[in-house]
Amino acid sequence: MSDGTHTRYDPHAVEARRQAAWRERDAFRTPPLVEHQPHLYIKPSAPFTSGNVHIGHVRSYSIGDAYARFRRARGDAVLFAFGFDAFGLPAELGAIAGGEPPSDWVNRCATHMTGQLERLGFSFDWERSFVSSDAIMYRWSQWLFLTLLEAGLVYRGTGNVDWCEHCQTTLASVQVEPGGTCWRCHGPVRLIELPQWYLKISAYLEENDARLAERAASGLWDEVALASQEIVLGRVDGVELDLPAGDGATLTVFTPHADAIGEARFVLMSARHADADAWASDPRVAVQLEQLRSGGWERSSREAETIPVIDTGRTLAAPTGAQLPVHITPLVDARFGATVVLGIPSRDRTDEVIARRLGIEFEPPADVPVEGDGAAPVTGATAAVRYRAFDWVVSRQRSWGTPIPIVYCERCGTVPVPREQLPVLLPLDIRPTGTGNPLAELDEFVNTTCPSCGGPARRETDTLDCHFDALWLWLPACVPPEARGLPLEEILALADLRHWLPCERVVAGSDSGNFVFDQRTVTKALRDIGPLGFLADGEPFAGCLFHEMVISDGRKMSKHLGNVVDPDELVRRYGADTVRMAVLYAARPQRSLNWSDSAVLRCHRFLNQVWDFTQAKLAQAATGSPDANEPEKDTSEHLRVKLLTQWCPNAVERTTADMESLEMHSAVRNLMRLFDRIKDFEKKVLAREHLLGPANLDALLEALATLAQLLGPLAPHLAEELWIALGRDEHGAQTPWPGVSFEVPA
Ligand SMILES: [Zn+2]
Ligand SMILES: [Zn+2]
Repeated sequence: MSDGTHTRYDPHAVEARRQAAWRERDAFRTPPLVEHQPHLYIKPSAPFTSGNVHIGHVRSYSIGDAYARFRRARGDAVLFAFGFDAFGLPAELGAIAGGEPPSDWVNRCATHMTGQLERLGFSFDWERSFVSSDAIMYRWSQWLFLTLLEAGLVYRGTGNVDWCEHCQTTLASVQVEPGGTCWRCHGPVRLIELPQWYLKISAYLEENDARLAERAASGLWDEVALASQEIVLGRVDGVELDLPAGDGATLTVFTPHADAIGEARFVLMSARHADADAWASDPRVAVQLEQLRSGGWERSSREAETIPVIDTGRTLAAPTGAQLPVHITPLVDARFGATVVLGIPSRDRTDEVIARRLGIEFEPPADVPVEGDGAAPVTGATAAVRYRAFDWVVSRQRSWGTPIPIVYCERCGTVPVPREQLPVLLPLDIRPTGTGNPLAELDEFVNTTCPSCGGPARRETDTLDCHFDALWLWLPACVPPEARGLPLEEILALADLRHWLPCERVVAGSDSGNFVFDQRTVTKALRDIGPLGFLADGEPFAGCLFHEMVISDGRKMSKHLGNVVDPDELVRRYGADTVRMAVLYAARPQRSLNWSDSAVLRCHRFLNQVWDFTQAKLAQAATGSPDANEPEKDTSEHLRVKLLTQWCPNAVERTTADMESLEMHSAVRNLMRLFDRIKDFEKKVLAREHLLGPANLDALLEALATLAQLLGPLAPHLAEELWIALGRDEHGAQTPWPGVSFEVPA
């Protein structure tokens, strides 16, 4: 249909024009707090400053951005901003490889990645973005650490870490090679016991579990996000009962097999159970338990066939009267948490393996489970729940992290740094090499004065795991940039937080389950402590969408496999709108997106055709119909009615439902269908009347305007360009959704 007078689709020119216009009118600035206007906070994931934006980021942000633009298009006030997760191993390894201070590496990455995301046209409020390794930000971690410490939710314990003697450093698990050797020197790695700081998530396991049903009922949590929370919890239902030992002591034991208590043959106890030491009182047993805790087993297999099992030499009396030997083993933790369980080899495959190893005889599994022999065996058993999730270590022996605000004084012991002295600054000139701990070797950092007595003291040289930073990373987007420097107590009291929280939707990768779980935990802690008391249910996220990865040939993308898709290259070839639309179109968010160029080509062709067709019709309208003076036949009125009152409204209704439920793949398909119908309309009219009369041309242009509106969240640059070409206004954050008017009241 091209008449040669209109411009070809040039995505680079269109996108440059639109992005300049958005900057000019400050389109994505967070709107002011207006209580009666529907408003929502959409939280994208916080990317690691790992070097480049990869295609997985593009998928994640394309979903979140489409949703943010859709909500703005309907007139809602949207907060859409994120911070870089800049501490931790990815940055440290990048800095080691580049031989530069991690702070330089991080700032370079953040700048580069911001440029990539801007080129893609994502509608973040960049004024609210931040880098978690900036002192003004990591003081959040320090403040939170002190606050949780006071509440007893951060505590000191001992834990096992991988240690390389040659490099004099602790290693992250990814730095230990499969054979148990060091990634750097390939020397042997052993486990050592170190004092560590723990976060007590166990305090909120039951509430996190109980509130999961509300999450599910809300319909705003997708199935992948809900499942991830259940996996982290690791809930096991069963019964518990108290069993007496010979000496008058009792022990509460758990089993998921309530109907087989009579078949119990032994008892297994976690080494982390509060009573483990009491049960290992025999000196010979105590030595074994000590060895177990210092980690001998962690390097070996964790299978039931080989995992250590320590005989305490003591027994408990079963309800049947049988004496059950008590054994301590880490096997319990991975299955039921830090608890005590009955060993029922006739019911449980793992218990069967243990029974054979211990030489304990048992009846082969019965065909029909018998409800005990008489009622006596289960008397006293009550319904109970156990969770696999347990407290995690928040400290790391690494130099690129938030300094832990603790000093050690010979006179006063362990002293928290007073809040008004925060932040404890991380020296920026450290250069990690993979050996030692540069922070611990820096005298001017280590040596300090005790805040309590003023005497000499040493700083804690462990830093916080970047997972700890993630506990608060979802909050600062709610803080206006001008308030960022306020004391944290004042920040947390801002009306902005009450306005934007809870966050309406998190959009993140399906590997974010632990982050979200711990964010839910710390929200409940801060609710109970006070600052987030306005979140009565302690839930930071009203909704949650977890998307799967982008893979290639059925495998994870990796440089090693040479199957990495480079988003920059795709944008250079096709433009941002095509790339964004293709990742939305190719798969439902909850499914892995197996990369193929066909989705890109399909979307590119579609956008090209929409552009060409619209431009051609506009050119036709501008020149006027060649037969304008001829009386119009108008045998196609029914077609026009169909287009404007059935096909277009149907597409609007379906696409609205798709966008509300973040089913953008379906939205794209519906728009492709609508475009087919628009072309079909023209074809049918021409077949009848051999020309497009003014009424039909108007109808066509109106349908195209609707299409441009619906495309707004999905291909925002092209959509707004066509919207303007169709004679509509550009203003605000977004082309309005059909039926929505942005008219400012006079
Ligand atoms: Zn080494
Ligand atoms: Zn002191």
